[in-house]
Amino acid sequence: MSRTPFEVVAAVDIGATKTTVAVVPLPVVTWTARSPDGSVRVRTAPTDRDPDVALATVVSAVRAGLADLGPAGVVLRAVGCAAPGPLDPELGVVIHSPNLGWRDVPVGPSLGDALGVPWSLDDDANLGALGEAILGAGRGARTVAYLTVSSGIGGGIVRDGVRLVGDHALAGEIGHLDAGIGGTDVPRCSCGRRGHIEAYAGGVCLAARAARRWPRGRLSDGRAAPRDADAILRAARHESEVRPLARDAETALATAIGAFAAVLDPGVVVVGGAIALAHPALTRRAAAIAARRAIPETAASLRVVHAMLGAECVLAGSALMAAAVAADPSHHQRRSKVKGVRHA
Ligand SMILES: [Zn+2]
Repeated sequence: MSRTPFEVVAAVDIGATKTTVAVVPLPVVTWTARSPDGSVRVRTAPTDRDPDVALATVVSAVRAGLADLGPAGVVLRAVGCAAPGPLDPELGVVIHSPNLGWRDVPVGPSLGDALGVPWSLDDDANLGALGEAILGAGRGARTVAYLTVSSGIGGGIVRDGVRLVGDHALAGEIGHLDAGIGGTDVPRCSCGRRGHIEAYAGGVCLAARAARRWPRGRLSDGRAAPRDADAILRAARHESEVRPLARDAETALATAIGAFAAVLDPGVVVVGGAIALAHPALTRRAAAIAARRAIPETAASLRVVHAMLGAECVLAGSALMAAAVAADPSHHQRRSKVKGVRHA
């Protein structure tokens, strides 16, 4: 008796500190990673600074995931991978990732060759947007804007189930828009310019701001000053001296939400990323500020919600891209033919 081959894709999310891998049955119609009997199981490992070691770890995790599903009849059709940018999705290369310490790493082709399947590589914010739009909080909306608030600020746009990447793969780079705060202490952004949304609301920049404000690590009354974004946002609830940093972060994120609302008229703005998910008040206040600033029609229709898939929305997006590549292996080669603006 012959059985129908069980087709799967591999989904990979390479993050600055950890890498997650899942083997996902086709078609990808739901994300069940958290259900105890779910068909998607996620493996996590620290991301090695050496790309060869990191990619070998991914390949082993995919093979282990395939072995979990049984010895026979499982066919891996494609691998989809997310990584922090800047990257070239057409060539599958991480161009330069300061967070990973990688430069010119051919992640897509390496994984594709090792596993013997077609590949896809994309920016983590774009894939988070895709995951939430199709399998998460954006379901039912035609236009979904996604904002991620973690060590940096990222964004992605999905229209009718398709990512809008722009002519240079830079669409949705909302973190590097001026926050509109001004004043005398305009913080420097991770990109080098000053006053960007990320400079006020990105975790790395927020921590740097606190270090500058309290150089000896003490508040004016001598108690310990908060040092990271999580501690800053917790302390801001009851410390008036810390509150302005959180208020600036809210104002900066309101600019991001307002820009998405004005330009895209989205059905929903989905906010994800570790910092936003741990501090729901940040999103709530930012959404309220954005609504107050907008024209009444936009304010009335503005819907801002948290990512439903949590941190796994990126992995879900990778699985969806892998499924698209499995259906059409030339998919990634037909992306934007314009070579993107290269970051320094
Ligand atoms: Zn910037």
